[in-house]
Amino acid sequence: MTVYQLPFKTGIIRIDFEKCKSCESYACVKACSLFGASLFRVDNGKPVTISSTEEAGRRCIEDLTCELYCQAYGNQGLKIELDMFGLDAYREKIKLR
Ligand code: SF4
Repeated sequence: MTVYQLPFKTGIIRIDFEKCKSCESYACVKACSLFGASLFRVDNGKPVTISSTEEAGRRCIEDLTCELYCQAYGNQGLKIELDMFGLDAYREKIKLR
């Protein structure tokens, strides 16, 4: 399994290229061009960033529509992981009560 990773300011996008091989919509690319910063293009059947991974991560506006569209209209190859800011501190606080 080849997983493409795109870190952005508050999280990371992971794309399973095996699932993209049989994708017919490339909904992630369309969503980013419609709602985001147009970070992706299709290259050899895979969604890849137009610029370097680092620049794409900086330019990402975090609208999260690539995941929503991939899950709804694509082949479910893209997942976003977001940091849970303050979760560890909150868990500690709850334990103290
Ligand atoms: S929509 Fe999902 S499965 Fe299709 S190319 Fe994009 S990431 Fe891959």
